[in-house]
Amino acid sequence: MTRTLVVGAGGLGGPLALALAAAGHELAIVDPDTVELSNLHRQIQFTAADLGLPKATRLAARVGGTGTVAPWAPALGDAVDLIVDASDDPATKFAIADWAVANGRRYVIASALRFGGNVFAGAPGVACYRCLFEEPGEGPTCADAGVLGPVVGAIGGVAAAVAISLAMNDRTLAGALLVFDDLRRVAEPRIVRFAPRSGCSACARAPITPQPKEIPDAEHSRSQRSS
Ligand SMILES: [Zn+2]
Repeated sequence: MTRTLVVGAGGLGGPLALALAAAGHELAIVDPDTVELSNLHRQIQFTAADLGLPKATRLAARVGGTGTVAPWAPALGDAVDLIVDASDDPATKFAIADWAVANGRRYVIASALRFGGNVFAGAPGVACYRCLFEEPGEGPTCADAGVLGPVVGAIGGVAAAVAISLAMNDRTLAGALLVFDDLRRVAEPRIVRFAPRSGCSACARAPITPQPKEIPDAEHSRSQRSS
């Protein structure tokens, strides 16, 4: 059974946790916040009965697993196979990605804003989140700029699908960023692939874990040469 940490029990974390629990993941959920009235339109895992209560434990009670009322901390990552970021905090996303790279973990970073969002699939041996974004930007967060309620559900669902495939050692999307510009118009993501960035401080701390290389097909290359 895959042990998965979901960081953030809000709009993204709710559908993520529901989908991962249904797929048989053993969940740990971490979030420092409590449920507020203004959350309910996009955090459909909660009802008015949850107001004022901690998101992490309320979501854990709903889907099974453990809830921790705290921000992300590396000790939480030690106990799991896979980390999924569903927070609304750029610094948390970078901290999780950096820790996952340094400790050889698979990870997913999900973000939603206004009408779209993106999902990054991280795994050992490929370019990392910091290779692409370098530093937390100055851009707006959901809290500042808002997000359409159903959009977080859609992005959370995609993040869950990516997490499930990584958990099954499917590396098809490893190192790729799925970008949804405006889900009201286009449902198909742009898939952004990129090379590791030389000088990336996260990759510099990655364990040396050689990835299995494709063994060249000798017969095939010989026939190519002779033709
Ligand atoms: Zn990197």
